Amino acid sequence: MNLRPMSLAGLKRISKSPEETVSIGEEIGQLISREQVICFTGDLGAGKTTLIKGIAARITGLSPYEINSPTFNYLNIYEGNKTLYHFDCYRLNGPQDFLERGLDEYFGFLCLVEWPERIAPILPPNRGMIKIEYHGEKERVIRYEESSL
Ligand code: ADP
Ligand code: MG
Repeated sequence: MNLRPMSLAGLKRISKSPEETVSIGEEIGQLISREQVICFTGDLGAGKTTLIKGIAARITGLSPYEINSPTFNYLNIYEGNKTLYHFDCYRLNGPQDFLERGLDEYFGFLCLVEWPERIAPILPPNRGMIKIEYHGEKERVIRYEESSL
């Protein structure tokens, strides 16, 4: 029997390929049922965007190919069955830069945030957190936590 968790709490998965990371993202997407801010931590190339492809595809009904890194424009908005806000704060100069662009106005909705460390002081306190760690060239450990940065 394939036992699937009912909530994200304590979720831990090991991925051995980018495709598997997208599938894990789809599984996670299925478990996200409310508007919330979910942060994604992990080094460059850890697989944050790859995981979000699966999550966002599952939630919006769009294809994973339509979900891409917003590195140069900070925010992608996906409007499918549901609207989802995908941030990448890597190139932001800190919280002030984020606020000046009015980006915090989306925090009441479903937001997925790459490089949340850049804007740590202004993140809502009750956020979710997904950590991705390298475990060799192709292997990644993916964990969900309700915690602060
Ligand atoms: P990030 O957004 O964290 O910078 P990306 O998702 O853009 O990372 O890129 C992850 C890179 O790692 C891709 O080049 C991908 O092919 C590679 N990769 C190798 N193994 C995996 C895996 N198991 N899961 C996700 N990405 C992987
Ligand atoms: Mg990325």
